[in-house]
Amino acid sequence: MTTQDSRAAADLRARALRVLPGGVNSNVRLDAPPVFFARGEGAWLWDVDGNDYVDHLLGQGPAFLGHAHPEVVARVAEACGTGMVFGAQHPLEVEAAELVRELVGWAEMVRLGMTGTETVQAAFRLARAVTGRTKIVRFEGQYHGWLDNVLIRFEPGPAQVATAGQPPSALADTIVLPWNDLGAVRAALELHGDDVAAIVTEPMMLNQGAIEPAPGFLAGLKELAADAGALLIFDEVITGFRLALGGAAERYGVTPDLAVYGKALAGGFPVAALAGSAELMERFGTAEVNHSGTFNACVMAAAAVVASLEALRDDPPYARVRAHGVALMDGLREAAAEAGVPLRLQGPGIAFHASFAPEGSTPDEIDVRDLRGLRTLDAARYQRFARALADAGVWVAGRGVWYVSAAHGERELDAALTRAAVALRGA
Ligand code: PLP
Repeated sequence: MTTQDSRAAADLRARALRVLPGGVNSNVRLDAPPVFFARGEGAWLWDVDGNDYVDHLLGQGPAFLGHAHPEVVARVAEACGTGMVFGAQHPLEVEAAELVRELVGWAEMVRLGMTGTETVQAAFRLARAVTGRTKIVRFEGQYHGWLDNVLIRFEPGPAQVATAGQPPSALADTIVLPWNDLGAVRAALELHGDDVAAIVTEPMMLNQGAIEPAPGFLAGLKELAADAGALLIFDEVITGFRLALGGAAERYGVTPDLAVYGKALAGGFPVAALAGSAELMERFGTAEVNHSGTFNACVMAAAAVVASLEALRDDPPYARVRAHGVALMDGLREAAAEAGVPLRLQGPGIAFHASFAPEGSTPDEIDVRDLRGLRTLDAARYQRFARALADAGVWVAGRGVWYVSAAHGERELDAALTRAAVALRGA
């Protein structure tokens, strides 16, 4: 029996469809198999029928320490017992900011928010205030949240809105360029440089694909931004505290002016952070620039950051997670070769992207450096495979990104490979 056919899941799905549009609370989930989970622990999920899944989605990234990490759960529960939200300061938020500063290494001050989406907006506002300019340069295929000025359809030419209800005027200040192409950035800055407040980039493209920056690309962006008098913003919502303790900035040795963190920052709790130099960030402190929120750094959020970052600092899992991911990629390649299917994998292991080479080509022939490269892959075939993986007991994203957590070990590797081999037979 597959999970989707189960009676309990079907009943829940019918109820959900009556009260939740599309049966979901985030449009990103509309395409996922309609599975209802009852529980997550470590690297595993259990659905309402008791079927287990090796989890390589990790809640779209946050569960980097594994689900229900005991120390994080205990610290948050204990802290919440003292009250949840004061509309005033409390000691844990200072500890949380100090830890972010200590681990990222390059930043001096931090503001906590709830989601990546809103915290990206705080970065844009600050960049605009500092430069007195309005335009933002960004890149094809990258995701910076779902709000009007960032949700776009990636087609050649001027930025286009992605959904009904988004005013096209919201994109008037957006310049979209192909990623990993310094020449395109240079040309755009020659034309619009005086109006550009910031260049924003995922320092490794990981919301789709798992594409590392070309050698020199991030350093080149930093130089071009500085020459144009614009800020460089790293959107480290996925890469932060995942690629390394200091995120992509540490991995690639390039520091931005501002960075946005989220997801792995708080072990599964909804927290994001903006970090930067005191000189930039003090604009919030002087009230020149507004950044607000009832729940910013509430007790739960601050406790989750402290517990998660201490866990990562005191027992850094990075080498182990990377080795696990590489072994998983190797095993998947072997299983795909045995099944005779052109599965294509790319990425540094700690997270990677899976798709299929299109008919008539082999995985090794395809070079994916940007969204245009990603679009040459057979995403529809991968989506069918992702469904088969769910049926076999491996939970992944339909868009091909696999995450590995600190809780994945030998047992999870064996289970994922055995189950993936079954799914690959029909892929
Ligand atoms: N930036 C990046 C790179 C992301 O991947 C995401 C979410 O996936 C966001 C921003 C938005 O974060 P949130 O979903 O917490 O609003």
